[in-house]
Amino acid sequence: MSHQNPLFIPGPTNIPEVVRKACDMPSIDHRSSLFGDILHPAREGVRQVLKSNSAEVFLFPASGTGGWETAICNTLSPGDAVLVARNGMFSHRWFDMCQRHGLDVQIVETRWGDGIDAARYEEILTSDTAHRIKAVLATHNETATGVRSDISAIRRAIDSAGHPALFFVDGVSSIGSMDFRFDDWGVDVAVTGSQKGFMLPAGLAIVGFSAKALAATETAKLPRTFFDVRDMAAGYANNAYPYTPAVGLMNGLKLTTQMLLDEGLENVFARHHRIAEGVRRAIRAWGLELCAASPDVASDTVSAVLTPGINGTDIVAHAAESYGTAFGVGLGEVAGKLFRIGHLGSMTDVMALSGIATAEMCMADLGMNIRLGSGVAAAQEFYRQSHAHPQQDA
Ligand code: PLP
Repeated sequence: MSHQNPLFIPGPTNIPEVVRKACDMPSIDHRSSLFGDILHPAREGVRQVLKSNSAEVFLFPASGTGGWETAICNTLSPGDAVLVARNGMFSHRWFDMCQRHGLDVQIVETRWGDGIDAARYEEILTSDTAHRIKAVLATHNETATGVRSDISAIRRAIDSAGHPALFFVDGVSSIGSMDFRFDDWGVDVAVTGSQKGFMLPAGLAIVGFSAKALAATETAKLPRTFFDVRDMAAGYANNAYPYTPAVGLMNGLKLTTQMLLDEGLENVFARHHRIAEGVRRAIRAWGLELCAASPDVASDTVSAVLTPGINGTDIVAHAAESYGTAFGVGLGEVAGKLFRIGHLGSMTDVMALSGIATAEMCMADLGMNIRLGSGVAAAQEFYRQSHAHPQQDA
């Protein structure tokens, strides 16, 4: 493809040129110290992005789904109960994986568009006096609906119930773009992938384990080989790896974690919040609504736009065919009811404006009552106000 537009799917995200170059490297001996110079800084960078002083970071040649499996197969045994809320396609897929592993899944059915109900988690955990529930699962940012959940509130719920369960958090579409606090939130396993906030191609499952989760690996009985963190930890001690690592991606991760830390994590989160707010203002100017049920749960990395009367998937197909631009389709229960504008990873206000403009053209082309420029203008006004204005400064 000779000309490339920015991507507006919620992962994989846009890859900065400098990152692409860091991934494109000659093969090296992954049993040499050269590999250690890539592996250890990459792991250390992830630990800092997770805001943890002590998490053990593991990098698998896999995707976020492999991270889910790493969390459960290393810490749980067949028949163990786990608690999970189902509020979108990704939380659905995670508990489906738990069921296929022979776990006893207690599901809190939640409207798609709502965040996780921490009070309901607390009730269930309080009534589990026998402590049958071994792990509490939460999807921080439900990519299918553009909904964030309050992870600190779930931590408080677990603590108020006095429950000893492990706490697993899917941060696949939040980590590196939205605030994530591994230590403060008492997370035991955090899961993500390389192709979202870390701005890399897909290919790495990235997980952080607490000391409590590592201790659980000693008694867990679920079968595991490829995702066994004990083999991974033993390898790391010798600059090595239990099998052939994806070295180029790790070299990219070493760079992107440093880029995030150099920008400053709070600045990164503020940038994503500002971009998202501009997108939300555009959506309001179009007279449309988010799938997210209330402003406090609206995600800063993906906006799911409801399209009553129009199949949202047609908008996505039209954007690809006519304008060479990618938005995300609705998944599962919301298939056809919305389209998604991804704004995570490598994204600027200027890039977002082009996505908003393209979405406007597509919706107008399909006969929706959208005034060209209305969303763009609303976002422009917001972005202008959010930046220092040279003429006002003079
Ligand atoms: N969890 C969330 C919240 C996601 O958005 C995704 C993918 O988009 C996944 C898990 C699965 O990750 P992967 O596709 O990298 O396996």
